[in-house]
Amino acid sequence: LEPDYGFMVRVRLPGGVLTPRQWLDLDALTEHSKGGLRITTRQTFQFHEIKKERLRDVIGGINATGLSTLAACGDDVRNVICSVNPLVPAMQAQAYEWALKLMHHVKPQTTAYKELWLDKLERVSDGAQDEEPLLGKSYLPRKFKFGIAIPPYNDIDVFAQDFGLIAIFDDKNELQGFNLAPGGSMGATAGDAKTYAALGDLIGYVPKEHLLETCWHAIAVQRDFGDRSERKHARLKYTIDDRGLQWYHDELQSRLPFKIEPPRPYHFEHNGDRFGWVEAGKGQWNLTLRIPSGRLLDVPGHPRQSGMREIARIHKGELRMTCDQNVIVAKVATRDKAQIDALVKEYGLDDHIQASGLSLNAISCVALPTCGLAMAESERYLPTIVRKMEALLTKHGLRDEPIHFRMSGCPNGCSRPYIGEIALVGRAIGKYDLRLGADHLGERLNALYKENVGEEVILASLDALFGRFAAERQPGEHFGDFVARTGVVEPPKRRPAIQY
Ligand code: SF4
Repeated sequence: LEPDYGFMVRVRLPGGVLTPRQWLDLDALTEHSKGGLRITTRQTFQFHEIKKERLRDVIGGINATGLSTLAACGDDVRNVICSVNPLVPAMQAQAYEWALKLMHHVKPQTTAYKELWLDKLERVSDGAQDEEPLLGKSYLPRKFKFGIAIPPYNDIDVFAQDFGLIAIFDDKNELQGFNLAPGGSMGATAGDAKTYAALGDLIGYVPKEHLLETCWHAIAVQRDFGDRSERKHARLKYTIDDRGLQWYHDELQSRLPFKIEPPRPYHFEHNGDRFGWVEAGKGQWNLTLRIPSGRLLDVPGHPRQSGMREIARIHKGELRMTCDQNVIVAKVATRDKAQIDALVKEYGLDDHIQASGLSLNAISCVALPTCGLAMAESERYLPTIVRKMEALLTKHGLRDEPIHFRMSGCPNGCSRPYIGEIALVGRAIGKYDLRLGADHLGERLNALYKENVGEEVILASLDALFGRFAAERQPGEHFGDFVARTGVVEPPKRRPAIQY
C-alpha cells in the first residue's frame, strides 16, 4: 500500500482567457478532483485532491481542450498574467496578444512533459537530451512571474511580479511598448527575517517589438546570477537587492543589442475589479461576476459552479479570470444580455449588487485544509471575518468604502497580502499578523501593525481605526493611505530610482 496522496493540478492560462467550450471541458474534469473549480490569484484554475491514478486523465483532459499545465508550476516562467479590465477592450486585446506571445516564447522546451502525461508512457523523443535554449539543464533557481498592466488600471498588481510590464499606449490607444518593473514578489518565510515581500521598481522602457528579447534576457540574468544555494533566497528580488537595481539594469542592457530607454509616463488610478455590466464597444458587453475566493463549487444557497456551467453552455464570447479571483463573461451581444442576466439571477451569481466595499475587494488563498504550508485558516475563515469587519464598517458609516483586504494562511503570500490595505497573514491556528497601510493602487507595501494576534484583538484594533478614519480622513482618502499618513504604521520605502 502507498499513502493516499491527493495532488493539485494548475492550468496554464495566459491572460486568464478561455472559451466557453474550454470552460465546460475543465468543469467536467472536476469529477476527478475535490472542491470544484478554483480560480487562483494568477487568473487560472486549480484542481485539488486528485488521486494519482487520475492525474493523467486530468492533465490529458486539460491538454485535449487546447490548454496545458506546463509552466503553471515549477522553477520556470509561470502563467503570464494580463489586465482584463472590461472598460478597455481594445487595449486589453493588444496587451493580451503580447501575454500569449511572451508565454509561448519562454515556456520550457521539453518532450518529457508529453511523454509523461499525454502519450502512452512512450518516448516521443529519440532518447537524446532535450535542448532547452533558455533554461538550460537546471531550470531557474525559483519561479519567475511576469504580468502586464494597462494603466490607469493596476488590476493585476503589476509591482508584485518578478518582472512587471506596464503597457504604454499612444493617444489613439495603440500599444507602443512596455515599462519594465523587475524585483517584486510576495513570498516570505515564517520566522526568517532574511525573506521579505518586495515591490518591483522601474528600470526603463522598451518598444513592443523588443519585448520578447528583453524578457528572454531578463530571465537569463536571473538564471545566471540567482542564488542556487539557498532556495528561500532565490527569487529575483534578492538578486536585485544583493547587487542593486542599477546593476540589474546594466547587466540586462549588456545583453541587449538596443538601448533600454527611460520609463515612459503613466499613472494608475484603480486597482481591483469592477462588477456588473460595462459596454465593450462593437455592440458587445462585459459582465464581471464576484466569485468569493474564486471557489466555483455548488453549496446550499450558492450553486456557483452550476451557474457558470449554464452560462458557458449558452455564451458565445469569452470568459476571463481576474487576478482577484473573479470572472468576466466577455463579448456578450446586446441581444444575449437578458438570457445571461436570467442565469446570473437564477444561480445567485449576482451578490456583487448587495456586497460591501470590503467584500468586493477581499481575496484569500486556499490554505487549510488543502495547502500543506498553511498555518492558519484563510478561505474558510474569510466570510466570517469579512462579516464581522463589515459590521464595524457599517457602525462607522463606511460600509461601501472600497478597502483592499487580503488574507493568507501563511507568510508565503499567495493572495498578495503585503499590498492589502488591511491584511491578515496566518501564523498559527486562529492567529494572524495584522498588517496595514498599503495604498489603494498597489504601489506601496503595508507594514506589521499587530503580530500573531487573534480575532478579538484584530476586530478591536480595526474598530478603533475605522472610527478614526471616519472622523479624520481627508477628502477622497483611502484607508491604507490614512493609516500611513497618520503614522499608525510606517510602510517600507521603494528602492532608490536608477539613473538614466
Ligand atoms: Fe499560499 Fe501559504 Fe496560503 Fe498555502 S497557506 S496557499 S502557501 S499563502
